[in-house]
Amino acid sequence: MKAWQAPRIPQSVVETPQAPARVRVHDTSRSQLVEVGPEQGTARFYVCGITPYDATHLGHANTYVAFDLLNRTWRDLGLEVVYAQNVTDVDDPLLERAAQTGQDWTELALDQTQLFRTDMEALRVLPPDHYVGAVESIPEVVALLERLRPTGLVYQVHDPEHPDWYFACSEGEAFGTVAGLPADQMVSRFSQMGGDPERPGKRHPLDCLVWRMAREGEPSWESSLGRGRPGWHIECTAIALEHLGAHFDVQGGGSDLAFPHHEMCAVEGTSATGEPFASAYVHSGMVALDGEKMSKSKGNLELVSRLRQQGRDPMAIRLALLDHHYRSDWEWTAGDIERAEQRLARWREAVEAGALGDVVELATRVRTALRTDLDAPAAVAAVDAWLGAAGATNATDDDRAAVRELLDCTLGILL
Ligand code: ZN
Repeated sequence: MKAWQAPRIPQSVVETPQAPARVRVHDTSRSQLVEVGPEQGTARFYVCGITPYDATHLGHANTYVAFDLLNRTWRDLGLEVVYAQNVTDVDDPLLERAAQTGQDWTELALDQTQLFRTDMEALRVLPPDHYVGAVESIPEVVALLERLRPTGLVYQVHDPEHPDWYFACSEGEAFGTVAGLPADQMVSRFSQMGGDPERPGKRHPLDCLVWRMAREGEPSWESSLGRGRPGWHIECTAIALEHLGAHFDVQGGGSDLAFPHHEMCAVEGTSATGEPFASAYVHSGMVALDGEKMSKSKGNLELVSRLRQQGRDPMAIRLALLDHHYRSDWEWTAGDIERAEQRLARWREAVEAGALGDVVELATRVRTALRTDLDAPAAVAAVDAWLGAAGATNATDDDRAAVRELLDCTLGILL
């Protein structure tokens, strides 16, 4: 699948020997900040993508901007980055929505994927190097399941009509170590998140669907497992292993994905390769609107595309998101975008016309904030304080260019 268009980002040449030399983020599986990515060379990460049946809302934007900070922070440290992301372009919610609206499911998926890409381009989110649809990854999914079959962990349920294939998560390597949930909570959470703990014929309630056998009226593909389509967890596992290899640096997504999704991806991946799936599992907070988590099923959404249609500057939308730490849960209000627009105007005015302080000092503060658990609010506050500080001197055009480059390459804010 075609990735969205990459913004050209500069590499800031300002040297900051006092900023940390590595980036640390919060790893859910160890409940602490850990260094992620190599000291030099290539960092590899995977962020779970959308199911394209409805427009990109601010909860999505919050997640992809958060992981864009990680991508930019690695690049700013001089690392190469390989970034993979999926598009769940065949799944129950997509097929249900298409059936409700009378649309062709492939057209719905293409339209919504295109809208997502346009939103991400506007927000200056760096595109994944591998942007891969579930449909196009079916050969990799089937190959992974074939690789797992000799372990005995992949089996068919005893259901003569629909003998779907499952993966025995609870018997696999290191199950339960990503989210660290107690067993009873795993089952209820699995059920809440669209799992099927009560499906008759499974070996264990927490086993997950990996290949759904063909149903009348549903899309399906021929495979060595019979005609069918892939389950969600195995889709991400197969795409990550195919494009990043075993034991990559970070698997990321919203905090609602820690269990079951990332837990089940990890156990599938680890059981297939004998190596850890990812080194760290990193999760962004949830964005609420009207007192509840923004979600398609509840219909309480603020859309990036709607804000853009209202004439909101995408850089102000991004700045509004950066004003919240990626791990916090927060509520979107109209005040967020207004504050961000005022801040953006202040920044632009100050860099255009005002006296500026020492650029190395600003760069040190911004980089230190971002390399310490991607603390964008601290970085934003550092810019505010630096621009408003006394003792600034007349700036040269080179100083202005250096500030613009710094803010673009680290925060993704184009002044
Ligand atoms: Zn995923």
